[in-house]
Amino acid sequence: MTDTASHQLDDRSAVATNVSALCAAAAVLEVDDLSKSYPGEPPVQALRGVDLTIAQGELVGIVGPSGSGKTTLLQLMGTLDRPTSGRVRITGLDVATMADNDVAYLRATRIGFIFQQFFLAEYATVLDNVADGLLYAGVPLEQRRQRAIEALELVGLGGRPTARPTQLSGGQRQRVAIARALVGQPAIVLADEPTGNLDQATGSSILALIDELHHAGSTIVVITHDHSIAERMLRKVEILDGHIVADTGALESPLAHPPVPASDAPVGEEGS
Ligand code: ADP
Ligand code: MG
Repeated sequence: MTDTASHQLDDRSAVATNVSALCAAAAVLEVDDLSKSYPGEPPVQALRGVDLTIAQGELVGIVGPSGSGKTTLLQLMGTLDRPTSGRVRITGLDVATMADNDVAYLRATRIGFIFQQFFLAEYATVLDNVADGLLYAGVPLEQRRQRAIEALELVGLGGRPTARPTQLSGGQRQRVAIARALVGQPAIVLADEPTGNLDQATGSSILALIDELHHAGSTIVVITHDHSIAERMLRKVEILDGHIVADTGALESPLAHPPVPASDAPVGEEGS
């Protein structure tokens, strides 16, 4: 990460130290020597010693071919599964040391998910689908609905709160899912092939929405097999056979979209 600065400035080590201090203070996700094997004959080694740090305000594309370990990585980063070895820290909190209940609360309050298949409740209204994103955070019903309306406005669906997912197009369904992911103002949003079920034009509009949300301050990781999608992200990480084989680095995005100054953001605590 510090290599980029090294050719440019005489006083480079001081600059590099400041930048890494800033990144460390604002790291929302840290993955350390992460490995995952699935049982079988022989076992499948899906991830092999992955290191990755994502700072507040980044937009990161993780790209790799089918079977390279992308979904496994997303599930571990999202605390949906536990690694075989290695560590995951979310906003400085080490998931491995936490009880299942605490991990569930951490996930509900700090991580938003967007999936290729949307995973909406077909029988519930759009409003309730989004409001349910706050259920486990212990927010009272009226407040859940109010915040859901705001999140729907953010994704351009403020006018359709009583529609059912079955009455919506694929792109609109994904917007509902994005509103649900954002309604709790999570520290990080993890998207697994978010345009995988959409035609090209609709997919493009979803990527434009992801861009907008990033500019508004969200930290977002998009997992994709499509290099042209990954190219749109400020930082591109390539994964192959369970290894990270390339990473354009974290330097540029936090500087392009400065995070809250370290002094205002105590480590391990949320500002709001
Ligand atoms: P990607 O999302 O990049 O396609 P995955 O993370 O889904 O990759 O899979 C990585 C490897 O792990 C693949 O070889 C896949 O077959 C295997 N794998 C994924 N999930 C499981 C599972 N639940 N049990 C056994 N093998 C799995
Ligand atoms: Mg996958």
